[in-house]
Amino acid sequence: MPTNFLHTPIDYLNGVGPARAKLLKAELGISTYGDLANLFPNRYIDKTKYYKINELVPDSAHVQIVGKVTHIKTMGDGRSSRLVATFIDSTGSMELVWFKGQKYFKDNLKLNVPYVIYGKVSKYGSKYNIAHPDVELLKEHRSRQQSAMTPIYPSTEQLTKRNVTNKMMVRMMQQLFSEVHNSFTETLSEQIRSQHQLVDKNTAMYNAHFPKSAALLQQSIYRLKFEELFFIQMELLLQNRIRKTRIKGYAFEKVGERFNDFYSNHLPFELTGAQKRVVKEIRADMGTGAHMNRLLQGDVGSGKTIVAVLTCLLAIDNGFQACIMAPTEILAQQHYQGVSELLEKTGLKVSLLTGSVKTKARRVIHSDLEDGTLNILIGTHALIEDKVVFKNLGVAIVDEQHRFGVAQRAKLWKKNDLPPHVLVMTATPIPRTLAMSLYGDLDISVIDELPPGRKEIKTVHRYDKNRLAVFSFLKEEITKGRQIYLVYPLIEESETLDYKDLMDGYESVVREFPTPQYQVSIVHGRMKPEDKDYEMERFVKGETQIMVATTVIEVGVNVPNASVMVIESAERFGLSQLHQLRGRVGRGADQSFCILMTSYKLSTEAKTRVETMVATTDGFEIAEVDLKLRGPGDMMGTRQSGVLALRVADIVKDNDILAVARETAKELLQKDATLALPENTSIKKVLQFLQSKKGLWKYIS
Ligand code: ADP
Ligand code: MG
Repeated sequence: MPTNFLHTPIDYLNGVGPARAKLLKAELGISTYGDLANLFPNRYIDKTKYYKINELVPDSAHVQIVGKVTHIKTMGDGRSSRLVATFIDSTGSMELVWFKGQKYFKDNLKLNVPYVIYGKVSKYGSKYNIAHPDVELLKEHRSRQQSAMTPIYPSTEQLTKRNVTNKMMVRMMQQLFSEVHNSFTETLSEQIRSQHQLVDKNTAMYNAHFPKSAALLQQSIYRLKFEELFFIQMELLLQNRIRKTRIKGYAFEKVGERFNDFYSNHLPFELTGAQKRVVKEIRADMGTGAHMNRLLQGDVGSGKTIVAVLTCLLAIDNGFQACIMAPTEILAQQHYQGVSELLEKTGLKVSLLTGSVKTKARRVIHSDLEDGTLNILIGTHALIEDKVVFKNLGVAIVDEQHRFGVAQRAKLWKKNDLPPHVLVMTATPIPRTLAMSLYGDLDISVIDELPPGRKEIKTVHRYDKNRLAVFSFLKEEITKGRQIYLVYPLIEESETLDYKDLMDGYESVVREFPTPQYQVSIVHGRMKPEDKDYEMERFVKGETQIMVATTVIEVGVNVPNASVMVIESAERFGLSQLHQLRGRVGRGADQSFCILMTSYKLSTEAKTRVETMVATTDGFEIAEVDLKLRGPGDMMGTRQSGVLALRVADIVKDNDILAVARETAKELLQKDATLALPENTSIKKVLQFLQSKKGLWKYIS
């Protein structure tokens, strides 16, 4: 087979010498014709549209205007020196400004001759201006044959510095596409293309760079986005299938006595619809003989614990043991208390293992575990230590996963001959769209419904200067018997300034809420763990009314009597963190409150975060906003994901295409599991190529 033309080194392209080739490689990773062809424009400019000056609005973005320069002058000096040209058309006047290249433009701009200018408009005082516009004589502009939509390519500082302009990039592309004749290999099947009315690969490639029309551009971009998302979904689905077929798990075939007895006689409440659905999903998963690796997402208070307990019972009914791991000692204790209470009348044996369990008690636990008398072990990571040996561990439940490392999870897998089933519970919602494309190796269940009768937490925003009013509100709540959290940012526990803020805050709280009438606890990262636990304990028992803390209380602590969460410098917290903190209240029967304290100086983003918190308590909604604000790059755990290497599609904006691509991928694998049908050969070849980890846009057949 002849080597595809697209493999040609970029140096061979007319107009690209060795020096420029080196620059393109270093800056944009382009070493072949194919690489260049797969550098897609960031955006396009519609050069068929000309604006009049009186049509401009403050954010007109990039516009093209025909007019004349009537006057040029240099203004300011030193760093503020600039060249200003007055530019007019029949409807008005505006300014063109240059900070760089002043001399060139001063010498070359012609007065009172028609020009076409192009650039980004801004408004300064009452006048519109464009800084560093593209200028071209109208005569030349007319004579130049050009496509209606001009592509704007990604650039870098170095490229700009070395004068590799967009114009030059366009010229290189033109050269390339004049040599390349339909060299792009179709990656999708005929069937998928016709089903979704996707243009063919060559049409898409050509029109993505040189759109013949707006409609063709749109179709081409759609096709490329679809292609990109489709192959990611194919890879994820295939990985998931490999896990399910290759990794065996214990089959929990029966739903037995323990589960049924508990379900009919000891459930303290009726399960919500979402809880029932999730339990069903888990049951189905663990019944198959494949290994379960499932992520259970549910907002704080959505009732994940009961799901965990029912999962344990399924294991026990099938002759296995279960364990529940929590990230902190306090959380492990709370789980232990909660689970023990729930299972009190069942005669099952539950124990707690944490770092502070004494040697003697520990020995008893070890031997109970090994002879199988212990059914459920709850604890911190102490329970994955090598010396903890189960007789027959069937399922491990991990609470608040992000506090556990991958290595620790791996240890879990070795606790039995086959890896125990794993259920990871998290209260940090990941937007559905992101979750479904990120976690190829996890199945996902979602509890998207709160238990009935929950009072919505009232959230308000207050400025620092209203602190006294806030304090007197807190006093009223304390008089009613409630408890209060007061949280300070301490993003880096070592930040001395934050620490000082916390201490100053603590002192002012103690002054405002004096003993003996009030008791105030404090917990922060510089304290010894036992001191932290002691203070926490006092608050849990109701001995103190106010807990001044840093974000250490973020995760899972349950004090139903605490009904007010005050967050200081709320503008400094991220959305998901604010949401987590708020979740510490609203756990009892009383009306709960969350008070976000900020200064007057708020960035637009901080404002959006605060407003979002005030507007909704739905964790998924909040996660969606968070995703939009921060982009997927910063969302937890998404850094290494292929989703971020997207070149054409946008995981947030192209949500709809993603859903279609995923469905298409699923259907395809249902119909042709091994891609053996001739019509799917092209897809199969791409997937084989993708195993080399080079990425879709390096694929040239
Ligand atoms: P999560 O761990 O998801 O934050 P929990 O499991 O601690 O939530 O449940 C929060 C509270 O809601 C607990 O007090 C629990 O007893 C209660 N609860 C859970 N499910 C239900 C339900 N279906 N009906 C009523 N109350 C429920
Ligand atoms: Mg919980």
